[in-house]
Amino acid sequence: MQTIHVSSAQQSPKSTVLIMGDQINRGIASLAEKTPDDTRILFIELATKFSDKQWHKQKVHLLLSALKHFAQELREEGFEVDYRIAKNLSEGVKAHKKDFDVSHVIAMEPMNWNGKEILENLDIELVRNNQFLCHYEDFAEWTTTKTKFKMEDFYRWQRKRLDILMDGSTPCEGKWNFDHDNRERPPRDGREWPSITLFEHDDIDNDILQNLDDFWGAYPKGVWPVTREQALIRLDEFVNGALKPFGPYEDAMLGKEWKLAHSVLSSSLNIGLLHPMEVVRAVEQAYTDGEAPINSVEGFIRQVIGWREYVWGLYWLWMPEYKSENFLEANRDIPPAFREQGSTEMSCIRGAMDHLHEYAYTHHIERLMLFGNLSLTTGINPQELTDWMWSRFIDGAEWVMIPNVIGMATFADGGKMATKPYASGGAYVNRMSDYCSGCIYDPKKRTGDNACPFTTLYWDFLDRNENRLSGNPRMGQQFGGLRRLADRSDVKVRAAEVLTKLDEGTL
Ligand code: SF4
Repeated sequence: MQTIHVSSAQQSPKSTVLIMGDQINRGIASLAEKTPDDTRILFIELATKFSDKQWHKQKVHLLLSALKHFAQELREEGFEVDYRIAKNLSEGVKAHKKDFDVSHVIAMEPMNWNGKEILENLDIELVRNNQFLCHYEDFAEWTTTKTKFKMEDFYRWQRKRLDILMDGSTPCEGKWNFDHDNRERPPRDGREWPSITLFEHDDIDNDILQNLDDFWGAYPKGVWPVTREQALIRLDEFVNGALKPFGPYEDAMLGKEWKLAHSVLSSSLNIGLLHPMEVVRAVEQAYTDGEAPINSVEGFIRQVIGWREYVWGLYWLWMPEYKSENFLEANRDIPPAFREQGSTEMSCIRGAMDHLHEYAYTHHIERLMLFGNLSLTTGINPQELTDWMWSRFIDGAEWVMIPNVIGMATFADGGKMATKPYASGGAYVNRMSDYCSGCIYDPKKRTGDNACPFTTLYWDFLDRNENRLSGNPRMGQQFGGLRRLADRSDVKVRAAEVLTKLDEGTL
């Protein structure tokens, strides 16, 4: 514990600003106007933070390293910094108040529901969170005029009110969405994808690296920025390198390429090293300068000001009940295939697990259409899946994982967020990846020993959930297909085998 004890006689009338581990930015609302003369800083590292889940080594490193680097930067600026380790937030704050004889503690609203509740009960002055473009109260206000909260409607509202990619009152190049240009199949020409800087570890990092043995995954290799300086380098690399090819290949998957042209900015955004507005304006500028095409620019901006802000708003709107939803009564445990590398013959899941192990990251399609799809169609418990994704993915946080898992991937909210479950057979993976060509399974087959598990499970999922889902107007075609299946009973037999093998780790 690095705590400086001072006597009462030395006390200055300073207030304390408590900074959470995902608010790593000098511009956060609680700190932006503060100086070392009027403010001391409190960081609380939770002693038990990494004991509740099987965290990825790179994630543990990122969270600790970013916090410690920020503490160092603030010390260098002249701030008095109390960086303490405590059992929980309450104990940390109480001990700080006692040791420093502090009466006034300020914090920016935390990024999670529990944290907010704890701070509200600790007599801490909470300042409105400024890490998003749409505060959740404004989002809640937006929903009051709607019966269904569609992402597309929210996204257009954001574009207009923030004047992003707009040409007066109309969207640039006349359309809100250029997705039809962004569904290219993966190129098989062995091309090089944009490279990224690997950041060198310093003494702070090396200290953390000493204590990562008990966590999951590969050791950090300098991929994930731990300071704002590094995050700005990564942003510049994306805008000037990967942005152009990002759009066409944003849904493509390649076994040997973990990120393709994805920005890999999400961890920096989610812990505060970058603000969404600076990221979006940099990308928009590349478009204005003629350096990047509209489909790439619009596709990326939609992810940041649309989807990211939308799930943030829904999290606050629907918590705390939302995290416990389980509409499909899915209660299967996380399978061995998601726990260790090489625990399945499914080439796509193996490949995505290799990416996850090596980088604590897979891009959105591997998350949704591989891990999410297998979880949905096999009935993995959504709360277990949320915890698994939160702890394994570098950019995982409660606010982002709960809506993405409960609402999007597993349909556990019964359709509050998505209009239908995102269940899919092997055909999608075959079209959008190079995984199937090296797989022992055949994406076209739904029965037999070499039937693709995704294809079998897709039909079995519809069969098992026919009563719950057949009334969904968007699923008429899918259930029509199910009823026309001549081998429906064979599919059920094969699905039972697949599920047993999945649980055993022999699939
Ligand atoms: Fe995945 Fe099925 Fe393709 Fe194999 S055949 S890679 S299991 S989708």
